[in-house]
Amino acid sequence: MHPDIERVLLGREEIQERVKMLGETISADYRGKELLAVGVLKGSVVFLADLLRVLTVPVELDFIAVSSYGASSTTTGVVRILKDLDRSVTGKEVLLVEDIVDTGLTLKYLTDHLYQQEPAGLKVCALLDKPSRRRVPVTIDYLGFSIPDEFVVGYGLDYAGRYRNLPDICVLRREIYEARE
Ligand code: 5GP
Ligand code: MG
Ligand code: MG
Repeated sequence: MHPDIERVLLGREEIQERVKMLGETISADYRGKELLAVGVLKGSVVFLADLLRVLTVPVELDFIAVSSYGASSTTTGVVRILKDLDRSVTGKEVLLVEDIVDTGLTLKYLTDHLYQQEPAGLKVCALLDKPSRRRVPVTIDYLGFSIPDEFVVGYGLDYAGRYRNLPDICVLRREIYEARE
């Protein structure tokens, strides 16, 4: 195991099983329709890549990149678009794909932003949820796992740009992020 990791929270097999189930549910719900999956860069890319390959409906792909100002292991609530969608989502069945919902501020901002373009439908798929930290109410239509309030990395999730390549979802050792804040 990587020396900066305290423990594995969700192992790769468990993740794969859950992603397969999510893909089956989403495919059934969208049967007969075409989907536009919008990945939130960069944290969602590993999850999205796995999810895409278990979807059986036609899927288009786009990405949006956002950043919150300030400290990197917590959010400040101020969201800024770093890269917007290539094309408008007007009239499309949109599935917004997020890595993790924490306070909910990022997701709230993103859904408001997408609703302004009047999609035919908008649903949210998130790999992880930390419900104990919510500051604004948000709806997650398809959720992978609800997790306790611990800072996790791996399977796409980073700390200071690192650890995205770890195949499991892991709890980072406290001293790694406390040393930098
Ligand atoms: P929110 O706006 O819901 O507070 O923050 C969501 C964003 O905060 C996520 O997309 C992610 O970038 C970051 N975040 C929140 N909790 C964690 C965590 O446990 N690990 C990592 N790597 N990022 C997190
Ligand atoms: Mg995210
Ligand atoms: Mg991050």
